[in-house]
Amino acid sequence: MSNTTPEKMQKYAILIVEQLQQAGFTTYFAGGSVRDALLGKDPVDYDIATGATPEQVMAIFPKSINVGKSFGVSRVPIHNTWFEVATFRTDSAYHNGRHPTSVTYSTPEEDAQRRDFTVNAIFFDPISKKIHDYVNGRQDIENKIIRCVGNPIERFEEDHLRMLRAVRFTSVLSFTMEKETADAIRATAASILKISPERIRDELTRILVESPKSGDAIILLDNVKLLEQILPEIKAMQGQKQPPQFHPEGDVFEHTVLMLNLMTKKDKLLAFSVLLHDVGKPGTAIVAPDRIRFNGHASLGAKLSKEILKRLKFSNQDQEDISTCVGGHMRYMEVKNMKQSTLRRLVGATTYPTEVELHRLDCLGSHGGLENYEHVKAFEEKIKNEPILPKPWINGHDIINLGITKGHKIGKIHKQAYEAQLNGDFQSKEDLYAWLKEQYLPTRAK
Ligand code: ATP
Ligand code: MG
Repeated sequence: MSNTTPEKMQKYAILIVEQLQQAGFTTYFAGGSVRDALLGKDPVDYDIATGATPEQVMAIFPKSINVGKSFGVSRVPIHNTWFEVATFRTDSAYHNGRHPTSVTYSTPEEDAQRRDFTVNAIFFDPISKKIHDYVNGRQDIENKIIRCVGNPIERFEEDHLRMLRAVRFTSVLSFTMEKETADAIRATAASILKISPERIRDELTRILVESPKSGDAIILLDNVKLLEQILPEIKAMQGQKQPPQFHPEGDVFEHTVLMLNLMTKKDKLLAFSVLLHDVGKPGTAIVAPDRIRFNGHASLGAKLSKEILKRLKFSNQDQEDISTCVGGHMRYMEVKNMKQSTLRRLVGATTYPTEVELHRLDCLGSHGGLENYEHVKAFEEKIKNEPILPKPWINGHDIINLGITKGHKIGKIHKQAYEAQLNGDFQSKEDLYAWLKEQYLPTRAK
């Protein structure tokens, strides 16, 4: 996508419709842009649907490219902005619940029938400004309902990914899922595992990042029985009791849902760190004499997170970052007892912005106390004009000048000196070096 402004995008999209209409082909806006415009939102991209075949589109826009000729979709450039122009079609004979094996070019009315949800199947003619709605999509938008076009069971059997799309549109738009649609997902939920992990990953990410209430999205995912299929480890958090003095909000699942709903600055790393931060609790729970304990839950959580993210084909970097956040989340309870050197390393970590936000949500989603959060933020503020991990004052030469020659000892003293520097034990390099001299220079040489 180029960085064209929304106004220009719309202008160019209308230009394409206009030219195709002038050549005699019925052409409309379709899909998300129509839905979003009816919801009063600026469309993100424009899908154009036309009666022209890809060859006819090519004749009018010679620079267009055919993407998957058999599916009748062309990409058309206008001033370096690309638009998808799809020929009205009927999909037939789905293979493996994933891809149609053949398509037939058809009419707008029939094209609406192959689309997933009624709210996504409305056409808009931007020239005559007329809406063409063959599936009562506008009514469902007004009533905020996600409903399959046609028989939901058949539609989900044709393409299993639609189940996750249904959850995504319902959650992202804050709509309700119509009962028959939800029942059909419950009946076919297990088929979701026939879909590639990458596609599940991408839908799940969009669900968590784009939903205004990501926790409610997880509840919906559970409600339609998809959670137990794609994230059984999260399902297992349900009913896992916690000590009420620390977790008045409820079990591990309820705590996580609450945190997800409290998320404001959303991104993939934070969303998955929140989702997974306590995934190690069910596996470590013991009923100690005083209370339920979860010793080592953060480390087990990091291990499980890695396994889950690997299964969903997240990048190695994502696996690393998210499991680091999960594995380290309990350290934030100890920040008041940390030495400055430890705090500096905490604040200096590349994952720190995610970790500190995870900690804030962890507190808000349970006892509500933010003392530890404020302590770290105050420290971050205090050192904001300094490099978080400054250059060491003392180098190898300085240590050799103390008469130390053995490599391992030089290394050890270097580390000790740097710790002392980071801890703020000395005001200057000179003070620190004077102290090292005290410690290590033989008396006669002082
Ligand atoms: P967004 O881009 O925000 O995800 P969208 O509605 O534009 O929303 P796309 O995935 O871009 O969704 O698809 C464009 C349109 O193509 C949809 O609105 C829908 O009409 C149709 N469509 C997309 N995927 C499917 C599918 N799996 N089954 C049936 N129709 C689909
Ligand atoms: Mg789209």
